[in-house]
Amino acid sequence: MNQISIAVDGPASSGKGTLAKRVAQQLDYAYLDTGAMYRTVGVLAMESGLSLSDEKAVAVVAESTVFRFKWEGGALQIWGNGRDMSAVIRTETAGKAASDVAVHPAVRSALVAQQQKLAEAGGVVMDGRDIGTVVLPRAELKIYLDASPEERARRRFLELKAKGLEISQTDVLAQIKERDRQDSNRATSPLCAADDAIIIDSTDLSAQAVCDRVVDLARQRLAEGGLPG
Ligand code: C5P
Repeated sequence: MNQISIAVDGPASSGKGTLAKRVAQQLDYAYLDTGAMYRTVGVLAMESGLSLSDEKAVAVVAESTVFRFKWEGGALQIWGNGRDMSAVIRTETAGKAASDVAVHPAVRSALVAQQQKLAEAGGVVMDGRDIGTVVLPRAELKIYLDASPEERARRRFLELKAKGLEISQTDVLAQIKERDRQDSNRATSPLCAADDAIIIDSTDLSAQAVCDRVVDLARQRLAEGGLPG
């Protein structure tokens, strides 16, 4: 076996994206950010004036959106129906819209089907909330990345500040806790670690330390022929 599939799950701002990107770069794998797909559907639905609680209408958006990803030079760009969504989906409003549309089973099944297609060839690092449990249940390596809500809020606050956004750390913490509550309590595919996931708490670890550990685990799996240990 030359390549494996790697699932990375965890709560908002746990560092999944950074981890998945670095691991994909080091192993020369494809990177797929499934949160970007939920964000795109949320933004497109809002722009069309749909109520995000209207499951049928939002599912039509999820089913009819053609996604395209370009992963180059450490950055992932995403297009929805030919439009570059990369910047517009990176707001707190888009994150909340993603979480709102992600509660609907019909929206999830439309996006899960597309994600499974995109991962068919293997050699992929995919991050999200349900990758190890639903999207790639047979992934050879599953990571569940966690960190305390306070540490996640601190990291997110610094990111937003660097982008010039004015928001208090207390407000960021409240948003993170609300997103955790909604993602963990929804009826369909709630956020949880797969039974065979390796849980890493990154509260006191640097991004590079987490990446090195996961790359080591991936190399071990490859040496074992891809079978989980
Ligand atoms: O990871 P990110 O913050 O971009 O995800 C935005 C939202 O999309 C999450 O809060 C979650 O509600 C939803 N999501 C999901 N399943 C995934 C990826 C994201 O429900 N696989």
